[in-house]
Amino acid sequence: MARYTGPACKLCRREGTKLLLKGERCFTPKCAVEPNKRPYPPGQHQQQQRRRKVSEFGVQLREKQKAKHIYGVLERQFRKLFAEADRRSGATGENLLQLLEMRLDNIVYRLGFADSRREARQMVRHGHFTVNGRKTDIPSCSIKVGDIIAVGEPSKKLEQFKIAIEDVARKTIPSWLSIDPAAMSGRALSAPTRLDIDANLNEQLIVEHYSR
Ligand code: SF4
Repeated sequence: MARYTGPACKLCRREGTKLLLKGERCFTPKCAVEPNKRPYPPGQHQQQQRRRKVSEFGVQLREKQKAKHIYGVLERQFRKLFAEADRRSGATGENLLQLLEMRLDNIVYRLGFADSRREARQMVRHGHFTVNGRKTDIPSCSIKVGDIIAVGEPSKKLEQFKIAIEDVARKTIPSWLSIDPAAMSGRALSAPTRLDIDANLNEQLIVEHYSR
């Protein structure tokens, strides 16, 4: 599946907010959207241009783009997820966030095996994880309630996973997930509700964008 391979910090500067795409670095002064860095969007003339008034469409578009960048999903896949969210009963916006949160790469990140969703995606692509005992290398794989996500047997010996498990104690695992550090595995206890999802997004704007 295609993915964005350009500079991550450029996306944050475009949205004017931290999207937390680079793990630890995002919490250091090196972050490109820190006030002492460049407080204007990327592009040759952006520094000189005054920010124009953004239309209603523009606001909705930017919110949708922000969600895509945060979860590392491109337009086609995002549209499919939106269609699925719309088909389900309940609030479409919340359904959409739930579908994004239940992706395998996001759960690997939420369980603390990776510092960012990008890193989690790469780990999954490299075949380090199993779902219910079966090796799965598809980052977009949709996890169901009760599924067990584990580091594969050969990968358990790798230093990066030993360090990740040692770090688990200092990380906050969402209440809808559980982790078994000894088995290097986690389980989806329930689907996340809107309150469980800490993404700084206004999903209603995304729904309005696609409903135009
Ligand atoms: Fe965004 Fe992280 Fe880069 Fe800061 S360091 S601009 S939050 S990706």
